[in-house]
Amino acid sequence: MAIKGAVQIEIETCKGCELCIEACPQDSLALSKEINKAGYHYAVQIHDNCTGCINCALVCPDAVITVYRESKKKKKGKNGREEVARISNVRGDVSVSINE
Ligand code: SF4
Ligand code: SF4
Repeated sequence: MAIKGAVQIEIETCKGCELCIEACPQDSLALSKEINKAGYHYAVQIHDNCTGCINCALVCPDAVITVYRESKKKKKGKNGREEVARISNVRGDVSVSINE
C-alpha cells in the first residue's frame, strides 16, 4: 500500500510561484482560485494521494510547506500523520529538519 502523506502550507506567505506544483510527482497540489492577503494565488493540496516525499518542501523558495507522513509511532500530527519535514528559511536563519 502506498505511504500516506499530507502537507500543510502557510497560505498567507505563499507567493504562488508553482514550483511545488511542478515538483510534486503525485499531482497533489494546485493553485487556489482565491488570493491571500498579499494578492497571490496560493498552493493547496487538492488530492489525498500525497506520499510525503518532501519534494515540494525542498523546492519552496519561501519554505512555507510542512510535510507529514503516516507513522505507526504514537506522536502524530496532521490527520494522524507524523511530521517528517519542516523547512524554514523565512527572512533569517535557515533551518532544515527532516525526520527519516
Ligand atoms: S510531499 Fe511529495 S507527494 Fe506530497 S504534496 Fe509534496 S511533492 Fe507531492
Ligand atoms: S513553492 Fe512555496 S511559494 Fe511557491 S507556490 Fe509552492 S508553497 Fe507557494
